[in-house]
Amino acid sequence: MSASTRPQVAAKKYVYAFGAGEAEGDGTMRDLLGGKGAGLAEMTKAGLPVPGGFTITTEACNDYFAAGEALPEGLWEDVKAAVTQVEAESGKGLGDVENPLLLSVRSGAKFSMPGMMDTVLNLGLNEQTLQGLIKLTSNERFGWDAYRRFIQLFGRIVLGVSGERMDAALDAVKEKVGAKQDTDVDAEGMKEVVQELKAIVLDETGSEFPQDPYQQLDLAIKAVFASWFGKRARDYRDNQKIPHDLGTAVNVMMMVFGNMGEDSGTGVAFSRNPSTGENVLFGEYLTNAQGEDVVAGIRTPSPIAHLHDQMPEAHAEFQAIADRLEHHYRDMQDMEFTIERGRLYMLQTRSGKRTAAAAVKIASDMVKDEIITKEEALQRIEPGMVDQLLRDQYDPDALKGATKIAKGLNASPGAAVGQVVFDADHAVEWVEQGKKVVLVRIETSPDDFHGMAVAEGILTARGGATSHAAVVARQIGKPCVAGCAELTVDYAARTATSVNSGVTFKEGDWISLDGGTGEVFEGALGTVSADYDEQDDLKTVLGWADEVRRLGVWTNADKPEEAERARSYGAEGIGLCRTEHMFREGERLEIVRGAILVSGAAMRARAKLEAGGTLDAEEQAAIETFDGAMAKLEALQQGDFEGIFEAMKGLPVVVRLIDPPLHEFLPNLEETLVEVTEAGDAATAEQRELLAIVQSMHEQNPMLGLRGVRLGLMIPDFVKIQTRAILNAQVAVNKRGGDAIAKIMIPLVGHVNELSRVRGLLEAEADQIAEASGVTLDYKFGTMIEIPRGALTADEIAKEASFFSFGTNDLTQMAFGYSRDDAEGGFLLKYVEEKVLPFNPFQTIDATGVGQLVEIAVQKGRATRPDIELGVCGEHGGDPESIFFFESVGLDYVSCSPFRVPVARLAAAQAVLADK
Ligand code: ADP
Ligand code: MG
Ligand code: MG
Repeated sequence: MSASTRPQVAAKKYVYAFGAGEAEGDGTMRDLLGGKGAGLAEMTKAGLPVPGGFTITTEACNDYFAAGEALPEGLWEDVKAAVTQVEAESGKGLGDVENPLLLSVRSGAKFSMPGMMDTVLNLGLNEQTLQGLIKLTSNERFGWDAYRRFIQLFGRIVLGVSGERMDAALDAVKEKVGAKQDTDVDAEGMKEVVQELKAIVLDETGSEFPQDPYQQLDLAIKAVFASWFGKRARDYRDNQKIPHDLGTAVNVMMMVFGNMGEDSGTGVAFSRNPSTGENVLFGEYLTNAQGEDVVAGIRTPSPIAHLHDQMPEAHAEFQAIADRLEHHYRDMQDMEFTIERGRLYMLQTRSGKRTAAAAVKIASDMVKDEIITKEEALQRIEPGMVDQLLRDQYDPDALKGATKIAKGLNASPGAAVGQVVFDADHAVEWVEQGKKVVLVRIETSPDDFHGMAVAEGILTARGGATSHAAVVARQIGKPCVAGCAELTVDYAARTATSVNSGVTFKEGDWISLDGGTGEVFEGALGTVSADYDEQDDLKTVLGWADEVRRLGVWTNADKPEEAERARSYGAEGIGLCRTEHMFREGERLEIVRGAILVSGAAMRARAKLEAGGTLDAEEQAAIETFDGAMAKLEALQQGDFEGIFEAMKGLPVVVRLIDPPLHEFLPNLEETLVEVTEAGDAATAEQRELLAIVQSMHEQNPMLGLRGVRLGLMIPDFVKIQTRAILNAQVAVNKRGGDAIAKIMIPLVGHVNELSRVRGLLEAEADQIAEASGVTLDYKFGTMIEIPRGALTADEIAKEASFFSFGTNDLTQMAFGYSRDDAEGGFLLKYVEEKVLPFNPFQTIDATGVGQLVEIAVQKGRATRPDIELGVCGEHGGDPESIFFFESVGLDYVSCSPFRVPVARLAAAQAVLADK
């Protein structure tokens, strides 16, 4: 009887047979046959040695539940017919005492799912067929061992009998006969175990172990179906966002035996090394073993390479099959096999999971070997993997001997080694003393930012993958383990204890955390640093990405070192250079503060002078002090810009003029107030004056206050000196033979008039410089689009701007009406957890809302100025999903932090490929 002659009773085709080189299904039918079933059919078709069997479809599973947990009509008849076909092909019979057919029953959904039913092996055995099996193999021990396994598996998985109790029965006999391993128990011993197991089954279920093979099969099939809605499986699907209505298939196939002696065995192997990507078989096998023995850890398996010595023919055949499967599936395979008396059988194949390093190497090797195309290679690597490859990792040898303290969420990848501190201020103090710290908190909030910024890594006891700690850590590129619930942190005692490992660590102790796995280790483990330059495969693959991508990839860099690093990572320009970041360096903060403190008086004095008044000595002095400070700043900034232009060697540099509110550079109001109040009458005039100025500059909503272009219009000197510094730097660099491409960017524009006024101011400065230097200046003038009104009136704004850069951080804040600092430390986490919002819009652009503002601005900007250059410099510029969006709206480039540049290059290529 073959597929075409086998009768079908059920209304639908629920059963797909495979065997003897033919299969009714194939590898494309994962929905209906599940991953395992599709793989078995495909392997059979390809002529590989697969024991015969059949797959009951996922549709049958769904219909089973629809009918109130009853097999669909006719299914059982079709199953029996399929069994008959396997019998015919194998020459054995299910329940045949002379020559018994034994079956395995395996679950298999579309996606591989831990939590689904375990596999039942050796189904079909009972007291009679057992005797047949023994006679046939002339191996009594083998027979009893097979029966023992069957009762144990079927008992636990199908009948719900306690696995521990049954394991204990085996252990008791092992102890009694002095056996170290299962294989040391002889036939008599196994017989005894079987009697014990049967007694346990009777005790727990109230019935004898089922003896009818067809009844066994019926129960096993239903148990597989039932496992689809088991709690573990359900939880897993919720977690992985796998729909609940896919159903599972059931694979029933002829048993082959790896436990028939030293010429038999079973194993699991990858066609390439899944941790390094090296193109050699990688895996383990056990001789004289069955099923899960390899992974169960009862006996120590041998590396697959040993198979070459022990069973050279089987090894050669397996190697050939692995190669064939790789070429067939065009991907690295994870395979299960069994050798029965020297004969190799394939039991499963699927695409193997791999590390980031392996993914990149395999993709690049497979292109070189012409197994896949460059485009496919690009699609096989997750952008997050590229990120991982640029972070420090633990030395694998150091990890081997390490003591694990706890495990939390792998919130931000990388290895962080440091001494424990429990608060942000301490972190800063210790780092200033030259120490390395890991910040441990119950949770973090924006108040902890300064500590997070200096720490090697962050560990929190609470909070998920979008908690403040996780979000911030990813942004600033720090390793982070979040939500480590087993950790009890005691701030008062400055200790933390893991309830699981019982380890307590205190302030100053060294710990090592792995943000890629979520593990926390005792002591300072050795690390190996990630060197981009040495990662040839990664560079090759990213080179292919550059051939494919349309979007430019620029970087946000404020310093020459950052610019240089980003360039080495492939950045094609600086999309955001934040001038004010240089205001905090060294002596500058003092100069800046000095200027700000007299700025009010100086502005007033100047206005008086312009109105024709005469100045008194104090007013005169205010202007002089202010101008003096500004001149110093200008000279310092010019040096900065020269450094950056030089580092970028002819690539464009977008410099944003001062953005934050001025009081960010002043001492904080509360502290100043406390100082003056505590000093009381002893407070100096200077202290009081400082307080008065800080108070006068205080704003209720600084993020919506005097900042950005507004500041430039109120105190023009800041933008004037910055413009001069930029353009004079250009002149200087070009005189030295350099090629400085300057683009001046105005932040926070909401009305075109703001831009036209500030532009007037700046062009006047530019003209002066051009005249003074006798050089024609080459610069562009543009703006950020980060205020909703700016986006909505982009057509007007484009008249004054030759480029737009979307500041999606502010745009998101203002479109949502969230203050980011307050939101991310507060309700936003809850919002994401409770799915009020599908994701954190500061991490991934909200395409439906904020994205519309971007689209409108793109359209309107181009309508006014078709060649307007459009980029994004918000943090979204380094987020792969957001990059897909920016590709779809046709921006010219994304700009992101230096270490995101390689990630963005890949994501930008993937965005093009996804559109095809
Ligand atoms: P999982 O999905 O957990 O990997 P499988 O259904 O692949 O479970 O089964 C686990 C193991 O059982 C396999 O690796 C294989 O060793 C063994 N097994 C399954 N079917 C057979 C069979 N027909 N003959 C021999 N061993 C089998
Ligand atoms: Mg398997
Ligand atoms: Mg902004």
